[in-house]
Amino acid sequence: MNLIDAIYTRQSVDRADSISVESQAEFCKREVADANTKVYTDKGYSGKNIDRPAFQEMLADIECGKIRRVIVYRLDRISRSVLDFANIIEVFQRYNVDFVSTMEKFDTGTPIGKAMLMIVMIFAQLERETIQLRVLDAYHSRSKRGFYMGGKVPYGFRLTETVIDGIRTKMYEQIPEEAEIVRKIFSMYAEPQTSFGDIARYLGEQQVKKRDGGPFTRPRLRDLVVNPVYVRADYRIYEFFKSQGANIINTPEEFIGTNGAYLYSGEEANKRKTVSLQGHTLVLAPHEGIVNGGIWIKCRSKCLNNNRVAKPVKAKVTWLAGKIRCAQCGYALSAKTYHCKTKEDNRYFLCAHKYDTGVCHFGSLNADFLEETVFKELCKKLTKFQTLSKQRQENFDLHTINLKSRIEKIEQEISSLLDKVAQANESVMEYINSRVAALDAEKKKLNAEVVHLSKTGGESLEKISGYLDYWALLTISDKITVVDSLIENIYASQEEIKIKWKI
Ligand SMILES: [Zn+2]
Repeated sequence: MNLIDAIYTRQSVDRADSISVESQAEFCKREVADANTKVYTDKGYSGKNIDRPAFQEMLADIECGKIRRVIVYRLDRISRSVLDFANIIEVFQRYNVDFVSTMEKFDTGTPIGKAMLMIVMIFAQLERETIQLRVLDAYHSRSKRGFYMGGKVPYGFRLTETVIDGIRTKMYEQIPEEAEIVRKIFSMYAEPQTSFGDIARYLGEQQVKKRDGGPFTRPRLRDLVVNPVYVRADYRIYEFFKSQGANIINTPEEFIGTNGAYLYSGEEANKRKTVSLQGHTLVLAPHEGIVNGGIWIKCRSKCLNNNRVAKPVKAKVTWLAGKIRCAQCGYALSAKTYHCKTKEDNRYFLCAHKYDTGVCHFGSLNADFLEETVFKELCKKLTKFQTLSKQRQENFDLHTINLKSRIEKIEQEISSLLDKVAQANESVMEYINSRVAALDAEKKKLNAEVVHLSKTGGESLEKISGYLDYWALLTISDKITVVDSLIENIYASQEEIKIKWKI
């Protein structure tokens, strides 16, 4: 039986990976000398898992021994999960299937190649994050000009067409009957003794329903009362949001007591949602508000006072979240942040069991210390992983070749980016600049590593864990993804830290 070359292409609909499956296949075909190929295509599937029909078909063909080589346009076509990726590479090896990526050339036949591939996946995540950031920037600049940014239209309003700064967009417009209900809700809640429960009951008796036909519940009423979309924003509103730490786009003179306002939450916003509005941005909207500033602030302040005793919103404060257990009693450790006025905030792990019952004698563990320790173990583990088999010299040679070919690729990309400078507009220019800077930094690092390797004769391969220096650039959620791929769980106490690995 003649063995075939498999070309695998994938394109998800929801992501910014714009290159079509057809172009991907074209790129891959350039790598193939003979015509004995089969193309497997998954269109509309993301790389977050491997539940994709064409991919499964290809795996089945591999298991039947039909395939000699798998060719992809980019590594992330195979998978965006580090663990899935490592598993698939193992399957390839078991069936003697070579693996070629046209963008990043790696030999998967060696442990070092395998480790390098894992690092590449981390880079892929980093790249994705950059794209998301650029999208976010565009979003923010539009939101600051009072544009309607999509999303559910609040009760009391409908959408209508308008033009802002010469751009066609949409704005809110009051629905008189619903606006009447909104006024009623605000005036009831402004009374000191009235609770959201009272209002919910009243509206229920009056047969007043939400737009979806459901009843007004207490959380829903709270959302309504704190939304500045309803206020006719005047100078008091400006003062109020200023005092709560919100970032205000318009000048105080623009708060003339007619327009409603949009409140956007930023990155930092979730942490202290109930107490302050730090990290939130307030911008005047083109529509007319429903209630006056005085009654709005009365209601908002009442909410704030009620909330001070409520539990703070849970946010992930450490990338070890969900992985750490108490070595004494086995309960999950929960991370807590202590806010410090004088110095930086402190993060600690506490045993949930001790917290609940006082039975366990776990003290507390500094989260920085724990993160640092686990990170060191992570580096060690990756190093061991690479040096498990094969001779060091072979690894060393291959590693140097890989580094040099990557450096060559970087130089090519830099010069092709610089070629494009002439016809670039401002935002493209910005992207080119940041990309060139990043590539240049990577090149310097790789060069240093080549020099180092040639000096030490490949003796210190553990230097590859230097790649994990990029760790600091990842977001908490990306770190959690990486940790989740490599670590089953961690048992910790003051005396010891035990890591159970997945690899
Ligand atoms: Zn405990």
